[in-house]
Amino acid sequence: MDLLFLGTSSGTPTKTRNVTGLALIEEKGSAWYLIDCGEGTQHQLLHTSLSINDLKAIFITHVHGDHCYGLPGLLASAGMHGRKSSLKVIAPKGIADWFHSTQTHTQLYLPFEIQFVETESLIDTEFGNFLVSSATLSHRVPSYAYVFTENSVEANLDTEKLTLSGIPKGPLWGMLKKGINVVHDGKTIQADEYLKASNKPRKIVIGGDNDRPDLLIEACHNCNVLVHEATYTSDVAAKVGDGVGHSYAGLVASFAEMVSIPHLVLTHFSARYQSVTETSPSIKDIENEASAIFSGHLILAEDFARYRLKKTGEFFRVDNNN
Ligand SMILES: [Zn+2]
Ligand SMILES: [Zn+2]
Repeated sequence: MDLLFLGTSSGTPTKTRNVTGLALIEEKGSAWYLIDCGEGTQHQLLHTSLSINDLKAIFITHVHGDHCYGLPGLLASAGMHGRKSSLKVIAPKGIADWFHSTQTHTQLYLPFEIQFVETESLIDTEFGNFLVSSATLSHRVPSYAYVFTENSVEANLDTEKLTLSGIPKGPLWGMLKKGINVVHDGKTIQADEYLKASNKPRKIVIGGDNDRPDLLIEACHNCNVLVHEATYTSDVAAKVGDGVGHSYAGLVASFAEMVSIPHLVLTHFSARYQSVTETSPSIKDIENEASAIFSGHLILAEDFARYRLKKTGEFFRVDNNN
């Protein structure tokens, strides 16, 4: 399964970075999912091999424009390209009303059905090869992370451990095998704990804007990759002051180090950080702050960078059109 970054700037686009958009691509076939759809996301897609007809669902993290203003344009183009199959849009309250109002006032007719699902109600919902849940974050408006867990793994249960823990054989074992957490005797049983290491489902957590990475502690349990915003470095965050609702590199790095995330991808950089690293402030400042704290595999996202997560847990960059 791959992640392809379509936009990595916060708030406003720059010449090298568009506003937020991220494609999650299934391992087999051509199905993919879009997480956030900032303005211009459809233009970014033109530089990739992804087809709008293979898009299975869109997940919006929160209502801010740099994460959703690309939605009407993208969907209008999908209609003009002849898309017929329905599309699920998972979004916080407000997005559906905004979209419908845009449709009404601009007389946008779509030849396919859009099914809005409220993010708030998403718990282990099946999308293709994934089970997807949402996790609540802290931002100026309600903001969420999406947790994608692979659900088609032929995982082997640790039956000895299950028996020792007194979890009865039957439907509970079936659900745990699929990677679904269950409740037994009033206690939540984490599926991850009972699956043998070599067969653990891959898990990716993709956060929206958030100033409290620690809210993801449960969501990040046994995850392979965390994609999180690092809008600022700590000095700039201090100048900007409280209440902006964003994280700085060191804050995310500390959290990732604490919960031992294997692969941390930082994104959503303030436009003040230049991609050219000779002058400061630059992306290098964000990297330096994070790498001084985080000892795992650190990646600073770039537009059109594509990464592959292998079953072995390896995570590495591949060609954009792969
Ligand atoms: Zn944002
Ligand atoms: Zn925001």
